[in-house]
Amino acid sequence: MLFDNDRDGSGTIASVLVPVAVPGPYTYKVPPGLAVCPGTIVRVPLGPREVVGAVWDGMPEPGIDPRKLKAISHVYPAGPLDADMRRFVDWVANWTLSPPGMVLRMVLRSEEALEPEPPVAGVARVEGAAPDRLTPARRRVLDTMQDGFAWTKSGLAGAAGVSVSVIDGLVHQGVLEIVSMSASPAPPAPDPAYNAPALSPAQAAVATGLVAAFDRGYAVSLIDGVTGSGKTEVYFEAVAEAVRRGRQAVVLVPEISLTAQFLKRFEQRFGVLPAEWHSEVAPRRRARVWRGVASGDVRVVVGARSALFLPFHELGLIVVDEEHDTAFKQDDRVPYNARDMAVVRGHLAQFPVILASATPSIESRVNADLGRYTRFVLPERASGGALPELHAIDMRRDGPERGRWLAPALVAAMRETLADNAQSLLFLNRRGYAPLTLCRSCGHRFQCSHCSAWLVEHRFRGRLVCHHCGHSEPVPQACPSCGTVDALVACGPGVERIAEEVEALFPQARTLILSSDLPGGPERLRREMKIVEEGGADIVIGTQLVAKGHNFPLMRLVGVVDADLGLAHGDPRAAERTFQLLAQVTGRAGRFSGGGKGYLQTYSPDHPVIRALLSSDSEAFYAAEIEARRVAGLPPFGRLAALVVSGPDKPATEGYARAVARAAPPDAAVTVLGPAEAALAMVRGRHRFRLLVLAPRQFDMQGYLRGWLSRVPRAAGGLRLQVDIDPQQF
Ligand code: ADP
Ligand code: ZN
Repeated sequence: MLFDNDRDGSGTIASVLVPVAVPGPYTYKVPPGLAVCPGTIVRVPLGPREVVGAVWDGMPEPGIDPRKLKAISHVYPAGPLDADMRRFVDWVANWTLSPPGMVLRMVLRSEEALEPEPPVAGVARVEGAAPDRLTPARRRVLDTMQDGFAWTKSGLAGAAGVSVSVIDGLVHQGVLEIVSMSASPAPPAPDPAYNAPALSPAQAAVATGLVAAFDRGYAVSLIDGVTGSGKTEVYFEAVAEAVRRGRQAVVLVPEISLTAQFLKRFEQRFGVLPAEWHSEVAPRRRARVWRGVASGDVRVVVGARSALFLPFHELGLIVVDEEHDTAFKQDDRVPYNARDMAVVRGHLAQFPVILASATPSIESRVNADLGRYTRFVLPERASGGALPELHAIDMRRDGPERGRWLAPALVAAMRETLADNAQSLLFLNRRGYAPLTLCRSCGHRFQCSHCSAWLVEHRFRGRLVCHHCGHSEPVPQACPSCGTVDALVACGPGVERIAEEVEALFPQARTLILSSDLPGGPERLRREMKIVEEGGADIVIGTQLVAKGHNFPLMRLVGVVDADLGLAHGDPRAAERTFQLLAQVTGRAGRFSGGGKGYLQTYSPDHPVIRALLSSDSEAFYAAEIEARRVAGLPPFGRLAALVVSGPDKPATEGYARAVARAAPPDAAVTVLGPAEAALAMVRGRHRFRLLVLAPRQFDMQGYLRGWLSRVPRAAGGLRLQVDIDPQQF
């Protein structure tokens, strides 16, 4: 807040939140001639450097001599951040026990965005003009420009993968025109009436409910609809309503590779592409989206969790698609769950929030059961097709011969599917060739030198890779321990090994691996997803990436190579996670045509998760899981936090963790567990110990933790203490 202190002619002062880990705003002098208000984005000196911050609410520190203060050095034209945004930043900081400046940093992520677009020349589409001949290169250029923004020639050439001469050709033909980037027109707004779909009666009823929520201000709707039930189509009606009401909307998705398909569907529905926001978007484009969101030129954004921190002024709807997905949780820096913070943002600014999933999180399901959220159920597929018929293959009896991973029954089903020209998907949540490599002669196992994890062989790359820190080394000829040559054996399967088996079984089939870590990055992945979508592959072998909401129209068979994989964890959330993952991945089968089939290879066909999947009785499964959480007092019935202590030296780290535990204020309502070694005891050379704090739901966990942390000895010598509210792992 501003504080007029001009009696002695020294000017006004203001609180400024700076993007560093300090408890609150600092006080600065406002030089005469600079106009600021709460939310103004400014540059200020901080120690030896200058940083970008924002004028913040709250009175400056009392008793400060204004003559000793440093002055705001620059006011940015972008902004100001509105009161809702500032309250949101403070709220997230308070909830996660993070310094508010670190939350602000997530808002001011794109420094380039704070100044107007530099006055350089770019190209933009000429309304209604089409090239005389649509070559593939020209099509790529026009596809890339669909969202209506202007581009620099070189930026466009890079994004479309064409040479600048292709763009010059389009300019010459009058399809593109040269514009000034700073004066380029705002992208056209989504048209809610462009192509309204014919919703089924069940979908229409949900859409009506979602639209009605706008009249109530804040309301959370949970769309609980089976895979392929048309949830996207339904929440598009809420997006249309937000646009009609002149409000901005944001759709959060858990996986970047999902956005391509989403963009296309959005365009079919609304006539234009939404703005895209995630880490793969080039910096200049991100800056443009940030500015467009702040100015109101951008009406709808689809993006990763960080889109929640864009500087909207007229936000009126947040959709969280696949709300159960753990990708919405950020674990480092400010640990927050975007799904929960979306609800908070809706509550603070009084607008509707929509959560959608075929397999809602236990938390959201309980919130719906308790009446906090409104649950809308879509029990049938939009296509009218049946959900896939699921079978378990008991690997104890009916498994394959040694050294093979696909059971005869699954292979037979794949053969049949192939003969029908339909697609099969084999799901295994393990990247690489084999999860463990050892020496046949001495038993040596390859472990990461920085992490407590085995190195995973990636045969295509010819390297052993750590999936936690990225360390990799060539696969050696000889065992580093006993020196025996050619004695290394791969233990267990990864997707590459399954692909090898598939290629041996079906040499005539077109086989494709979909995994996030193959060379070529997200661009290649997008291309390959498209190939699968268009029928250019017969058998797809994929990691969890393929489980996430993708539409593969020709996919008829899904085989889960190891249905027990996720169940082995000691984590109480393991059952929920495995159920969600397997229901989602088998839900890829038969989405359009019906007739889908799924096979679960398992050594424990009687496990409740496997039984729930086979009987497609998710209600019984949810009821049992919810009851187990209730009895144990675990979220959402109780409150949970983790304190993670890490450091380079194991005894010192453990010692500090014990000191932290000893400082816990006694409170009969609180249970403190640990310290114990974290599930991954060492990552990137840092040892980790964890304390879990469990308390009843009404308990003020943040207040308690603040009191605790104030009594904890300072972390020194590379030690670190991090608080994680609502940790992913119990
Ligand atoms: P979900 O998000 O529930 O998995 P989608 O919204 O992706 O489902 O819909 C599944 C498929 O059904 C999509 O191809 C979609 O275009 C189609 N679809 C959805 N609603 C309808 C409808 N009312 N009429 C025809 N097709 C529909
Ligand atoms: Zn490692």
